[in-house]
Amino acid sequence: MTTWARQGTIASDFEHLIPLYEQAGMDLIETSICVADTFSVLTGDSPEVSAVLQGATKTIKSYSTVPVGFAGLVRSVEQAEEILANGVADFVGMARALFADNDLITKTLSGKRDQINWCLWDGKCFKDKYNPRYQRVYCCVNPKYKRPE
Ligand code: SF4
Repeated sequence: MTTWARQGTIASDFEHLIPLYEQAGMDLIETSICVADTFSVLTGDSPEVSAVLQGATKTIKSYSTVPVGFAGLVRSVEQAEEILANGVADFVGMARALFADNDLITKTLSGKRDQINWCLWDGKCFKDKYNPRYQRVYCCVNPKYKRPE
């Protein structure tokens, strides 16, 4: 089992804060990657990391009366449906999976799953943000955002 040093807030820190946010008018919550427990594995992709992320979201959801969303390492419509079915969140966001293929959802729903450009989860688009040569981020599998040679 991996042990991570605590470097920020964790889900249980929000037990008393979320009711205060709700009283102040908060309409919804979205959780995402890079909470304390996952900081050192930011771009990792494993069942263990997903379990940590989804477990934290489920804890936050237990404190909340407003809808809670989840985003983090969600690679497919099927996985998003599973997250909803498991009661982890009320809605699901995807970023890299949709950057890799802007039509991922349409292709899935129209039976063209075999035509999807699947994200490699290599994190190269993250690194582009810090490359002084680049004005934007690029993708390894989406020809629309092909990385310059
Ligand atoms: S650059 Fe890599 S990690 Fe980023 S969206 Fe494209 S395939 Fe996924």
